[in-house]
Amino acid sequence: MSSHLSQRPSKTKDQEALGRVQRFREGIHLRSLKAKKKVEDITKDDVKTFLKKNAFVLFTIGAVVIGIMLGFALRPYKMSYREVKYFSFPGELLMRMLQMLVLPLLVSSLITGMAALDSRASGKMGMRAVIYYMTTTFIAVFIGIIMVLIIHPGKGSKDEFTQQQKIEQVSPADAFLDLIRNMFPPNLVQACTQQFKTQYGKRVINVKVIVNESIFNLTNATQEISREEIIPISGTTSGVNALGLVVFSMCFGLIIGNMKEEGQALRDFFDSLNEAIMRLVAIIMWYAPIGILFLIAGKIVEMDDLTEMGGQLGMYTVTVIIGLLIHGMVVLPTLYFVLTRKNPFIFITGLLQALITALGTSSSSATLPITFKCLEENNKVDKRVTRFVLPVGATINMDGTALYEALAAIFIAQVNNMDMNFGQIITISITATAASIGAAGIPQAGLVTMVIVLTSVGLPTDDITLIIAVDWFLDRLRTTTNVLGDSIGAGIIEFLSKDELQNGDVEMGNSVVEENEVKKPYQMIPQENEYENEKPPDSETKM
Ligand code: ASP
Repeated sequence: MSSHLSQRPSKTKDQEALGRVQRFREGIHLRSLKAKKKVEDITKDDVKTFLKKNAFVLFTIGAVVIGIMLGFALRPYKMSYREVKYFSFPGELLMRMLQMLVLPLLVSSLITGMAALDSRASGKMGMRAVIYYMTTTFIAVFIGIIMVLIIHPGKGSKDEFTQQQKIEQVSPADAFLDLIRNMFPPNLVQACTQQFKTQYGKRVINVKVIVNESIFNLTNATQEISREEIIPISGTTSGVNALGLVVFSMCFGLIIGNMKEEGQALRDFFDSLNEAIMRLVAIIMWYAPIGILFLIAGKIVEMDDLTEMGGQLGMYTVTVIIGLLIHGMVVLPTLYFVLTRKNPFIFITGLLQALITALGTSSSSATLPITFKCLEENNKVDKRVTRFVLPVGATINMDGTALYEALAAIFIAQVNNMDMNFGQIITISITATAASIGAAGIPQAGLVTMVIVLTSVGLPTDDITLIIAVDWFLDRLRTTTNVLGDSIGAGIIEFLSKDELQNGDVEMGNSVVEENEVKKPYQMIPQENEYENEKPPDSETKM
């Protein structure tokens, strides 16, 4: 009896197991049938739509690949400097076209962005932006410092480095004051072409000295001696004073936003200017792949012999790359996921073209027009956020540059066999953050502001020349990280500000919102689930 009882359940178990296997097989069969059907269902039209939708990205990726191949294929021909210049000409044209748009785009987008928000909303959004910028920049600096301390690429000898030049000295205090001075340009027209920069001059001081020839001589003789003193004098450098224009445009936008009817003409003007510039961007984007191809190929043809990359410089390059990868591929996506609960890599895919343009141009300002396009069209980020956050981000938020400056300063200390104490490391973190804020979004600007970091801890500024050989390459990578940081920031700030944005929609029905939801002149046809996670564009909001 007992054996009978014990057999029954085991038989049922066998049957259950058999049933499971059968269901499993049927499942596989069904799935493979479905997959087959799906493949059969992919029509020519689907492929065409896919290619059309992703044409820019595919062209741009293709351009990078062809550029790299062409560059390496032409290297053996050892072109002269003049020939390289001619060869890179199409790339130079792209840079010029993008730079041409930066100024009107920066001003018009910030003014309309600020005018579209009421002061409470812009205050909150601004606060979030500042917290995001500071947090991510400090994290970037921290990663840079940890990486260079762990990998320790500098071996305490300068034997293998060749270049040595004199670098212009800048006192950190003057550099900091220049940053603040540049926020308030005395002449707006000049701010479009020049920045303030302290320069140093000599002043001769004549001093009368009383000479006592002997202690018994009661008549004191005076003698005049002159000595020289280095003093800061005002000076300028060429380049757009983006910080000054950002501050002015933000204040101006806020004011015309509060002017109700009286400000309408100005709001319309800047709105329409912004729209026109974005249409120009749409045209230039077709040329971008060709420009990027020649920028990259030209740089590869021009670069120094790769054997220079051996030894300490090679290790330094690897350390910077690892640091930037950790920040760009781990930290920023994690932050995006934790705060928004959305897939960061889908968001990053939408940014591909901007990232590749940053890689090609080494300039986050020149990439700004493309960043706008990617965020607004592919990632559907609200225009009120992009217009406000992107120009500010491109001017002051540079995670890649901050990481690089801190890492490079400690590398130079290692090469000089100098041990940095905790206090000096903190000083480097603070000055690297300030230097990244002060760096312009143009090629190799970070190398110039690094003088401030080195001076602050007493490192030889001439040693910047040790890393010049690889800077063109690392500049491209840190610029890409800078653009990624700004874009992810826009995504996060949009998510965190959705209440204010929704209130704004209902209250104002302002021009930017209308444009967003009604005109969308360069917007692709909305997908079915476009408004997922968003408020549907119901008629109430567009009064
Ligand atoms: N080229 C960088 C940028 O435009 C700045 C830098 O040199 O780090 O973002």
